[in-house]
Amino acid sequence: MKYFSFSELERSVVAQFQDIDNTMPLLVRTSAEAFVDGVLDPLREAFGAPLVVSSGYRCEALNRLVGGSPSSQHLLGTAADISAVNPADNRRLWELIGKGTVDFDQAILYGDYRFVHIGWRRTGKNRRQMLVRNTPGAAYRQD
Ligand SMILES: [Zn+2]
Repeated sequence: MKYFSFSELERSVVAQFQDIDNTMPLLVRTSAEAFVDGVLDPLREAFGAPLVVSSGYRCEALNRLVGGSPSSQHLLGTAADISAVNPADNRRLWELIGKGTVDFDQAILYGDYRFVHIGWRRTGKNRRQMLVRNTPGAAYRQD
């Protein structure tokens, strides 16, 4: 864990306002650490500039509130919604993921290079699936 912290992955404005405890259980913490070491840190290193996590781990209550998929990898601590400082940099980030810089199961680009979801399977095959959600409504749907 070089560039990301557990607290950064647990932080959620929604959880804060709804008074939800979004602290990772121990097993999730172990998976999140493997996700950071294997995916987020190497991606950040290759990107060469700060990446902000807008949503990392989500407990079930939080995931329900934000309309996340019941099978979301956010629940397992192995997904994060990340963004760089501007859309142009988010485009560069998206292209970097497309080059196969890191292993991932699913990457989703939201809005007009607004942010990128990246999810990973700790066990099993990572599909390296890339999806684009560009319709206005989709910008508010969370995976
Ligand atoms: Zn996501």
